[in-house]
Amino acid sequence: MSLVSERVTPENTGLSLLRGFLGRCPRCGKGHILHRYLKIVPNCADCGEAYGHLPADDMPPWLTIIIVGHLLFPNVWWVERNYNIPLWMEYVMWPSLGLILTLILLPRCKGFVVALLWILRLKRATTEKTV
Ligand SMILES: [Zn+2]
Repeated sequence: MSLVSERVTPENTGLSLLRGFLGRCPRCGKGHILHRYLKIVPNCADCGEAYGHLPADDMPPWLTIIIVGHLLFPNVWWVERNYNIPLWMEYVMWPSLGLILTLILLPRCKGFVVALLWILRLKRATTEKTV
């Protein structure tokens, strides 16, 4: 199964989520769903699927925090237990590593969340009155 060429339905969730994580359109896998780092494109440039209405909101940063925390803190603990690194080096190393991981993972998490919202067909609730 090709990651790019096969069009999927929402039932093929694993492939769609992987495409979203990689920043590609969950439907066709060709177009990008983010531009300017974290901005969601209104429509896929290849297949025209609409994404601009999907409310990712705070879930991508929370997901990124959870992943970075679970990657970073066990390693901080392990290094503290096994090595005697100067404190100034740890003050530089761990925040830098956390920042780099965050900058790498945040757009991927946003793509993943947009793909998840697209699969679930969720959209922002409107507050318009119908009367
Ligand atoms: Zn597309």
